Amino acid sequence: MKSQDIRAKFLNFFESKNHLIVPSAPMVLKDDPTLMFVNSGMAPFKEYFLGNANPKKNRIADTQKCLRVSGKHNDLEEVGYDTYHHTLFEMLGNWSFGDYFKKEAIAWAWELLTEVYGIDKNILYVTVFEGSDEDGLGMDTEAYDIWEQYIDKDRILKGNKKDNFWEMGDQGPCGPCSEIHVDIRSDEEKAKIDGKELVNKDHPQVVEIWNLVFIQYNRKANGTLDTLPNKHIDTGMGFERLCMVLQGVQSNYDTDVFTPIIKEIETITNSKYGKDSKSDVAIRVIADHVRAVAFSIADGQLPSNTGAGYVIRRILRRAIRYGFTFLNQKEPFIYKLAETLNKQMGEAFPEINSQERLIENVIKEEEHSFLRTLDQGLLLLDKVIENTSTKTIDGSRAFELYDTYGFPLDLTQLIAREKGYEVDEIGFDQEMKKQKERSRSASATETSDWIVLSEDNTEEFIGYDTLVADVKLTRYRKVFSKKEGDQYQLVFNRTPFYPEGGGQVGDIGSIEAKNGDVVHITDTKKENNVIIHYSNQLPTHIDGTFTAVVNEDHRRLSASNHTATHLLHQALRTILGTHVEQKGSLVKPNYLRFDFSHFSKVNGGQLQEIEDFVNARIRENLPLEEQRNIPMQKALEEGAIALFGEKYGDNVRAIRFGQSMELCGGTHVKQTGDIWYFKIKSESAIAAGIRRIEAITNVAVGKYFENVEKQFETVKQILKTPVEPAKAVQSLQDENASLKKQIEILLKDKTKNLKGEISNEFDIINDIQFLAKKVDLDAKGIKDLCFELGAEHNNLFLIFGAENNDKAILTCYISKELVADKNLNAGNIVRELGKYIKGGGGGQSFFATAGGKNPAGIEDALKASKQYIT
Ligand code: ATP
Ligand code: MG
Repeated sequence: MKSQDIRAKFLNFFESKNHLIVPSAPMVLKDDPTLMFVNSGMAPFKEYFLGNANPKKNRIADTQKCLRVSGKHNDLEEVGYDTYHHTLFEMLGNWSFGDYFKKEAIAWAWELLTEVYGIDKNILYVTVFEGSDEDGLGMDTEAYDIWEQYIDKDRILKGNKKDNFWEMGDQGPCGPCSEIHVDIRSDEEKAKIDGKELVNKDHPQVVEIWNLVFIQYNRKANGTLDTLPNKHIDTGMGFERLCMVLQGVQSNYDTDVFTPIIKEIETITNSKYGKDSKSDVAIRVIADHVRAVAFSIADGQLPSNTGAGYVIRRILRRAIRYGFTFLNQKEPFIYKLAETLNKQMGEAFPEINSQERLIENVIKEEEHSFLRTLDQGLLLLDKVIENTSTKTIDGSRAFELYDTYGFPLDLTQLIAREKGYEVDEIGFDQEMKKQKERSRSASATETSDWIVLSEDNTEEFIGYDTLVADVKLTRYRKVFSKKEGDQYQLVFNRTPFYPEGGGQVGDIGSIEAKNGDVVHITDTKKENNVIIHYSNQLPTHIDGTFTAVVNEDHRRLSASNHTATHLLHQALRTILGTHVEQKGSLVKPNYLRFDFSHFSKVNGGQLQEIEDFVNARIRENLPLEEQRNIPMQKALEEGAIALFGEKYGDNVRAIRFGQSMELCGGTHVKQTGDIWYFKIKSESAIAAGIRRIEAITNVAVGKYFENVEKQFETVKQILKTPVEPAKAVQSLQDENASLKKQIEILLKDKTKNLKGEISNEFDIINDIQFLAKKVDLDAKGIKDLCFELGAEHNNLFLIFGAENNDKAILTCYISKELVADKNLNAGNIVRELGKYIKGGGGGQSFFATAGGKNPAGIEDALKASKQYIT
């Protein structure tokens, strides 16, 4: 069975069981502070389990792209070494939100596996939760009794809290689970050891394929469990592992999900999969990682130096490193796999198809720059080895290579070993631990449970229509962080405060109690669909009514910049072409930033056109046409632009200004004239194929021009010129250039004259022509003098001192034959003489200079120089 059919069969099966089939959510998460990437099928549905939103239907099924490379689920180090863990994988899942529970979940899982897919039940094992004293929970007999109806008792195994109790995080919904494992070993192997001994023992042919989670508890901040009123089902089956079983192969990499990519790697790198264990690991690493990186880029998360972007960069670098070390790839090559990946996945995941070129470009550029870093690191490592007197490289040096050059320990070890050196691994680990502690203690936060004041947790956003409203606090909690101290998070029954989103910063403002007490709101953010107001204080009389007041300037100016980004987007697509796609934006009151895909620099003429285009739309004073709740499909038909990597519901908000129409949740001006003026401040590259425009609007433009004019006036005053300053500056520059030329000629003459005079002043000491003299030349003049004398005379030992702008310079020149014969070294000599002029320097063995801040010491230095040859 082909992988495409396996996926389709799963979805069709659950559709026939009355489930709604939904597409995979984007893999990169935007409003969840506890998670960077979706790491299991349930992550996009978290808000339903938390009760912050209601699902479209209480039965859903899907395939979800998951990434397990950071935080609680991190399989990165396994990937490549085993045959069944990936960074990016698809998780097939069926969900019940307060609808069916264990009975149906187990029955359907069994029916699908054994009847639809036809898996022999004699290769299956299941597990049930054995209970936990810590939590005061007994065995999950409910699940056990159901399983007994389908499978032999001796194939039902009891599992501990680690394997059979699933938790979303430290807090929140959780519950026992039942895993389904397969044993795909040969009969011969099975005869040697019973499969049940190998379940959950990391055996590559006895693996878990499906986990059925029965969500029935809520874990509170103090660690205790509450029973949930509504029970849920959350299941996750590894798609690639299922393909392995159904295609009768022994490794996920031998399924048709991976074989086309592996073939391509073989061709590009001229290697053969299955020949050598080391290059096999490398091939698996690359085949896996290219998928993770490509999907992340398609979802809008580019490799970068911080946060989620850094995680992606590290994954790609791991692939590059394995290619570099084990497949001898010294040039970029991973980007070439994008095409095959698209052929393979583009149909099920259209975001890969439409962004193939961007994926290719970004990966190629990353490869280039990391290979350069690797080269630099190799040189540095050579130096470290050179300066190591023992056969062990210091852990702290290895850590420095890792930390500043991205040079991982195993690579350092590999290269060191080739040269007969070891790396002090314990020292390395200690440095790593220290760094982790530093960052942990800087970012440590403690969050208390919500204090619930009202059971009604619906929360209405009314900020599109008003900036002031009477509100009631429904819950709050305290968050302590080392960096920011105590903070309170407040949730109201309704709120005019816009929460950060769509690039636009969150509103600030205040909450006023009836008795006049005022609490400032410092930020507003959305977390799993709840609008949270941040404050350094808790209001008194928390049970009363408050007047919530959004800071009007902050909002008005943010709206001005937000609308401007839409007009800018339209301008870019009109002037540069419709290949332009938004790749990120930041909208603040005083500034806007817009990132987009485009493959070359936007030149000055184009920038002017873009600016003019936006300003023309501003002058047209186009009115805001808002459709707050229209079907997604209708909006798209009307021409609205949707972004990749953004999670949209069935109904969306569409914002139109003239011909510009976008799906957007942000706040906007009433008419474009409110923007006043749009001014581009800069254009730059932020990654291969991604450009960034920074711009300002409204009062910021006024301030900008005021400032420019002030500077212009100052320049005019300095120039004291009635003509245009530009002309005056040009003539000053011309004058300056001709003066420079004249000085050069004069100095050359001076050097020549000096050379003539000096040739008669050498002292002959031990066959050496010695001269120590103070001269009135600059550093370049002295250098020329030295080399010209050197060309005419042999056996020279020259020391020149000079005073330049209250600084002292010493120069030492030694004929090359003396350097060898008399073992003299100009670099060492100037370094020693440098102390007379309170400075230091160095250079080569035949020519070196020192600079210092004590010209009075020049004479003493010159006197002392004789000692080196007497
Ligand atoms: P394992 O113990 O094998 O790592 P898990 O307990 O971490 O699995 P779950 O978190 O229960 O797995 O995820 C549900 C299913 O997703 C698993 O049964 C498995 O089929 C699949 N899965 C989990 N992690 C990976 C991974 N890194 N690569 C591919 N599939 C995975
Ligand atoms: Mg795991």
